[in-house]
Amino acid sequence: MRIVAYLSSRGSGNRGDQNSVQRLNDDYKLLSILLLFLIFSSSTSTSSSTVPTITSQHLQNKPFPPYSTTSLSKAATFKPPNMSQSHSGNLDLFLANNAEFVKDFKEPPHMVDIRKQAEATGKATIVLTCVDPRSVPEQFFGPKFDGGVLRNAGGRASADVVRSIAFLRSLAFVKTVAVVHHTDCGMTHLTDEEATKEALERTPAAKDEIENTNWGCYSADDYIETIKKDVLSLRANKVLEGVSITGWGLDTFTGEVTEVDV
Ligand SMILES: [Zn+2]
Repeated sequence: MRIVAYLSSRGSGNRGDQNSVQRLNDDYKLLSILLLFLIFSSSTSTSSSTVPTITSQHLQNKPFPPYSTTSLSKAATFKPPNMSQSHSGNLDLFLANNAEFVKDFKEPPHMVDIRKQAEATGKATIVLTCVDPRSVPEQFFGPKFDGGVLRNAGGRASADVVRSIAFLRSLAFVKTVAVVHHTDCGMTHLTDEEATKEALERTPAAKDEIENTNWGCYSADDYIETIKKDVLSLRANKVLEGVSITGWGLDTFTGEVTEVDV
């Protein structure tokens, strides 16, 4: 950035000055040196793309390479993730994937324009579903899916789901909500009592909070009834009056989504 500012200031000097020709020659020399430096930097960099390529060395706590010169503005705004630090879980892998993701990233529309379009079409749709990695609306509703997604354990109609839908009515003029639960959901693999017992053993100091938590577990036999229960619960909420709320079941092992009569 400083280099660009320096060249700009030099370029805006008085061209009528008797030393201007010499100054121009000096500028060209400086520019040539800079170009050679940039070419050299680029050829010795681990990547010629605008962002550093994440290789296995980053996962072995090696220093993060510098941004190439073409991403100076980006480097000035965003700090690259500290790849010399080891992160828990799969975060190191996710960060490596993100570095690949941004390479071909297409800038999405801005919220101002999203709002205008949502208001014009009146088709903004929210999908409420489970956090399960097999229950992903962007996958089971296709690559052109452009709805909003609310996900929690089980895709249950919690208080925060109501808050989010109510807010999205104001923001994006949402009139349609689809509640999608899926078969083999983790919520059917524990009971509320088991979830409470596990949590108490892990964090006994949080006893009051744990005992007041409605986990929302249910039996696999109640799969359809649970979808109906959540749809009816949302429909009964006055703040969501006027919103079309329907229930759907995702067969986790075929990918098929079918409507539940509520
Ligand atoms: Zn689930």
